Amino acid sequence: MDGPSGTGKSTVARRLARECAVPYLDTGAMYRAATLAVLRAGLGPDSSARDVVLAAAQARIESGTDPAAPRILLSGEDVESEIRGAEVTGLVSAVSAHPEIRELIVGRQQELIAGAVASDGGMVVEGRDIGTVVAPDAALKVYLTASDEIRAARRGAQDRKAGRAADAATVLAAVRRRDHLDTTRTVSPLTAAADAVVLDTDHLSVDAVLDELRRLVGE
Ligand code: C5P
Repeated sequence: MDGPSGTGKSTVARRLARECAVPYLDTGAMYRAATLAVLRAGLGPDSSARDVVLAAAQARIESGTDPAAPRILLSGEDVESEIRGAEVTGLVSAVSAHPEIRELIVGRQQELIAGAVASDGGMVVEGRDIGTVVAPDAALKVYLTASDEIRAARRGAQDRKAGRAADAATVLAAVRRRDHLDTTRTVSPLTAAADAVVLDTDHLSVDAVLDELRRLVGE
């Protein structure tokens, strides 16, 4: 399942995985954890590519795959809450644009997917390049979209719920900035796979998206 932020991807991907009783992988969390490692190494937007790639490559990231309790560990520490903060969110698109970092993280994702397919018969995976790069042979590819304004409103509501400040104009600008970086990067830019089912969620509730996904899974 691919698409930009604020399309409801995480919510529906998790719920679908629970319903289908298969594991779930949030690939964005892995890029976020790598970004946190970069920040913890004292690096930032002006650091050299070499230093950023080295810090991310050395990060020990473990991803939980239980859709009922998503978990991401950095060097054994649970960083699920910290990776959702503004500092990581502001830098993650720049970090994940490095081809060397993508190669490493995509390799780990493919291992996790192969393990899940072998033992559980499948997996729900969400991200930006799953249908195009990570799992080009996936049985079902879904690309969720929605207008910038709706996505920013959903993101803002999520941030407020998590106790983070979320001024509407700031959230919209941040969503657009991240979309721009994710769709224009040279390696695996965000785009729908040619064989993906594209769902515009502007006027669809989470339940309506899930209904459609259930139908597609059952086909
Ligand atoms: O999905 P989430 O908002 O957590 O993703 C954070 C960022 O990680 C995205 O904006 C994108 O830059 C990067 N990402 C990626 N490829 C993925 C998943 C996320 O480049 N498969």
